[in-house]
Amino acid sequence: SIPLGYFGGIGAASRAGILIKGSQYLEALKNMDTVVFDKTGTLTKGVFRVVKVTAAEGVDEEEVLRYGSIGESQSNHPIASSIRNKYPLEVLTQEIRSHEEIGGKGVRVQYRDQEILAGNRKLMEDHELEILTADDIGTVVHVAVDGRYLGYILIADEIKDSAAGLMDALKNLGVKRTILLTGDHENIARHVADQLHMDEYRSELLPQDKVAVFETLKEEKKDKKTIGFVGDGINDAPVLAMADIGISMGSLGSDAAVEASDIVIMQDDPAKIADGIRIAKYTNKIVV
Ligand code: ADP
Ligand code: MG
Repeated sequence: SIPLGYFGGIGAASRAGILIKGSQYLEALKNMDTVVFDKTGTLTKGVFRVVKVTAAEGVDEEEVLRYGSIGESQSNHPIASSIRNKYPLEVLTQEIRSHEEIGGKGVRVQYRDQEILAGNRKLMEDHELEILTADDIGTVVHVAVDGRYLGYILIADEIKDSAAGLMDALKNLGVKRTILLTGDHENIARHVADQLHMDEYRSELLPQDKVAVFETLKEEKKDKKTIGFVGDGINDAPVLAMADIGISMGSLGSDAAVEASDIVIMQDDPAKIADGIRIAKYTNKIVV
């Protein structure tokens, strides 16, 4: 039989905005040794703002933004909405003949008779395009049309306020290792990991690389350590499903993310993860 205390714990968690899909996850939370975090939308707001536009020689900045905005017109990625907000356009859906979301890289769109690419260095390399280098801190979205490189849009995201004390709180609750995974550049990964006092980071990961990193972590755990993963479900649902405890942050998350996770944080608030562990530990004490 299931001890009554577990129901208490699941109920207390749910009142705190933490949905736990079964008592086994409450137990697992208590033993969580390693917590792996996705960056964008999880530890950062996922609300990007365009801060700079750099055009290639002979190109207008406006052209970079306009093609960027058309290219991103169908994408749900937070990067896409920042570009659309900066350069609002009415793009008729029938003019978008195809739209391809290339995980961890960007988008490729057929617009009227033009092919638009918007994404990171890897995407441009896949199409053998020479790019302007940028040493700014931020996410760089390169834009190209019909094989012509136009320039890049620099976008900045902010760390969530409630992420600030989280890693220290987790350490106090017995978590030994915190790791950041991101498809973003190394300089951003390092910056975020430093700011948040995280132990490790892995950068420039494609969605399948995140799965591979996670598999390695699982193999490393010789003494049955519990590994949690926290994500927002954008490009990380497979890892959510693989983790001993998959935790998704609700407000931005997709249905697929809610489905793939064991615990759903209803508000967009990373500090709730520490609350969840506290509730789990307290529940354990009062189990009859
Ligand atoms: P994270 O791992 O930080 O959560 P994602 O896996 O969602 O980020 O994306 C990784 C990288 O892929 C982004 O930093 C960006 O360079 C690129 N990217 C993904 N989707 C898009 C898009 N719609 N437009 C432009 N770039 C994108
Ligand atoms: Mg993400």
